[in-house]
Amino acid sequence: MKHIWANTRHSQQVQLCIPFKSRVRKEPRRAGWSDDTCTVSQASQEQDDGPLATRVISSKRSTTTITNPHSWRQQDGEEEMPLQAEDIRPEMREDIYDPTYQDEEGPPPKLEYVWRNIILMALLHVGALCGITLVPSCKVYTCLFGVFYNMVAGLGITAGAHRLWSHRTYKAHLPLRIFLIIANTMAFQALDNDVYEWARDHRAHHKFSETHADPHNSRRGFFFSHVGWLLVRKHPAVKEKGGKLDMSDLKAEKLVMFQRRCYKPAVTLIFILPTLVPWHFWGETFRHSLLISTFLRHVILLNFTWLVNSAAHLYGLRPYDRGIGARENPLVSLASLGEGFHNYHHAFPYDYSVSEYRWHINFTTFFIDCMAALGLAYDRKRVSKAAVLARIKRTGDGSHKSS
Ligand SMILES: [Zn+2]
Ligand SMILES: [Zn+2]
Repeated sequence: MKHIWANTRHSQQVQLCIPFKSRVRKEPRRAGWSDDTCTVSQASQEQDDGPLATRVISSKRSTTTITNPHSWRQQDGEEEMPLQAEDIRPEMREDIYDPTYQDEEGPPPKLEYVWRNIILMALLHVGALCGITLVPSCKVYTCLFGVFYNMVAGLGITAGAHRLWSHRTYKAHLPLRIFLIIANTMAFQALDNDVYEWARDHRAHHKFSETHADPHNSRRGFFFSHVGWLLVRKHPAVKEKGGKLDMSDLKAEKLVMFQRRCYKPAVTLIFILPTLVPWHFWGETFRHSLLISTFLRHVILLNFTWLVNSAAHLYGLRPYDRGIGARENPLVSLASLGEGFHNYHHAFPYDYSVSEYRWHINFTTFFIDCMAALGLAYDRKRVSKAAVLARIKRTGDGSHKSS
């Protein structure tokens, strides 16, 4: 086992295996990297969280980075609150909460309805209600196909648009990125909601959480944060602050920009497929295929995804940070392939598991780990247990089992 140190922009790094805390300071500094299997980085300063450490577990096929957040702090009454995270993703700063941004005083602007989206969503939901009445008479393969399709499409949102492209919590080789961009197109969140648009909205949601610059500001109520925000023009603050976010990483990604160029014809085409497959391959009636396999299935996918913005910001505990709106909601996690551990996720947006745990009600983490085992995903960022416990102690609501 080699022990190697390398200077990064904000930290000194060291490679070794556990126990990492005590050994880091004793080893001499050296520059370079090894092809070894386990890495630990020691940040250049310490805080009351204990040593600020970044641990990178790597192999030739996959890598996991575990880090303690390095916080720039401000005095906030009786306690200090973290402002920014350690530089474990030097390429990404735009999803870190900015508590200095506050809404301006004054009445909210008048709602401008987007009738195209209102009609589309109304038609989809009416179709889904009709589909429910047909479920008892549909073929079992149609139901199984619907579940499988939604799992794949859901991964396009969770493992793709969210954890890979919005937060850069891990890296993926081209075959996995191609799979995720196709899956994301299958998920068809709204007519303009390609990965680039989705990621910009999502970074604004994290950076300006629960303000008017948050596209689905949960302070405007359940309906607005669930679906209402898609039915009206964006608040001027979303346009202003969202437009200033650094999206250069996605602009430079050809696959994402290709999807953006072809999004409307692609989603239209893909939207027809779930109707044709059951009808053609196992003789389902066209009516059942259209209303169950397309409308009902898609409406379930949409609502399950939207619950992360609504229910996971309104209902649940806040064991990691009681000062933010996002909450832990295991039911939402069940519905959204693992995205409901939302208090943790907003506290540590750079963690690829979006949860303190790995596979606990978290199919997306299981999927990414499988991809890592196949050599298709690597450099999975992970927050260290010590940092999580320190954060729980400092800002949690006391509901965590360690409290
Ligand atoms: Zn997020
Ligand atoms: Zn959120």
